[in-house]
Amino acid sequence: MTIHAYGAHAGDQPLVPLQITRRAPGAHDVQIDIAYCGICHSDLHQVRAEWAGTLFPCVPGHEIVGKVSAVGSAVTAFSAGDLVGVGCIVDSCQHCEECDAGQENYCDGMIGTYNSPTADAPGHTLGGYAEQIVVHERYVLRVRHSADQLAAVAPLLCAGVTTWSPLRHWNAGPGKKVGVVGIGGLGHMGVKLAHALGAHVVAFTTSESKREAALALGADEVVVSRDRKQMAAHAKSIDLIVNTVAAPHDLDAFLALLKRDGTMVLVGAPATPHPSPNVFNLIMKRRSLAGSLIGGIPETQEMLDFCAKHGVVADIELVRAEQINEAYERMLKGDVKYRFVIDNTTLAG
Ligand code: NAP
Ligand code: ZN
Repeated sequence: MTIHAYGAHAGDQPLVPLQITRRAPGAHDVQIDIAYCGICHSDLHQVRAEWAGTLFPCVPGHEIVGKVSAVGSAVTAFSAGDLVGVGCIVDSCQHCEECDAGQENYCDGMIGTYNSPTADAPGHTLGGYAEQIVVHERYVLRVRHSADQLAAVAPLLCAGVTTWSPLRHWNAGPGKKVGVVGIGGLGHMGVKLAHALGAHVVAFTTSESKREAALALGADEVVVSRDRKQMAAHAKSIDLIVNTVAAPHDLDAFLALLKRDGTMVLVGAPATPHPSPNVFNLIMKRRSLAGSLIGGIPETQEMLDFCAKHGVVADIELVRAEQINEAYERMLKGDVKYRFVIDNTTLAG
């Protein structure tokens, strides 16, 4: 089937309307009419070829929500009309140690929602800036929020699970002091989720103007990270820092805030490397510097169910398809509170 989409033909060109095709649903496939798709900073990195290996045409988008419109003959868990989501993964090998553990995100054969090899035209996956997507049932998530919350649920599929996964893995919860660095799409979800998990949350931002908003998101304290005095007040006191910043920066300033055995998890993926941290900042308090990649399918469902139960959604600004390029520019300036979401009904013009 031919559908409307938005994507780019090259890294130095803007996104434009495209016509793409989707496969007819196979036995295990779910066909979804996409209602909304979030705009992740990874979309911008990828479509502008800031990371290596972008395949063109590139249709980004991995924060997908919509309604099931058809299912394959072997699908029993979903039926037409169900509210569902698709995140960053649309396939994996399904038999390795990682897949067996529900950590498909670490499978060497993981197929990303866009920019991964596929048998479908044009030979690589095309993402959620499109009217429809066809996905193997294993990678389809059930959305239990109400239909009127759907647009604000979309960012949970990447920004939500990318912060949820490290918060859960490093046991964020009551009695723990958790820092979230960079209050953008990922960071604002990190603050909301860490707060909902019961942790004491410190939001670190370069933007003084986000102070009140970060408190409203659930932060107990807000630190403007350029202010040395405010930073020093938290020295050697934090259990876990989730660092979402999309640009290279001084990691030592944050490592120094970890208490003994504390961990800073990098989830931000800048196109150029951070300056190396001072090894003594790790040795002296047995601190760890770690990384984390999105999340597996079971933990994505766990996060969605937790959010439905606790009333957690993203703070979004809805945009039309023709505003996508402008939204990218605003995201680069930090001018978004806190996630742009595309109304996919506008893709047809
Ligand atoms: P975003 O909405 O643009 O937010 C990033 C935030 O980082 C900004 O709002 C800003 O927060 C801070 N920031 C940006 N540039 C900065 C700079 N030069 N110096 C200091 N702070 C800066 O982006 P996002 O969608 O949250 O994504 C963040 C990063 O995570 C991207 O690199 C993205 O590719 C990556 N990502 C990784 C995964 C994963 O699996 N690991 C998944 C999704 C995304 P303040 O104004 O508060 O300082
Ligand atoms: Zn993303």
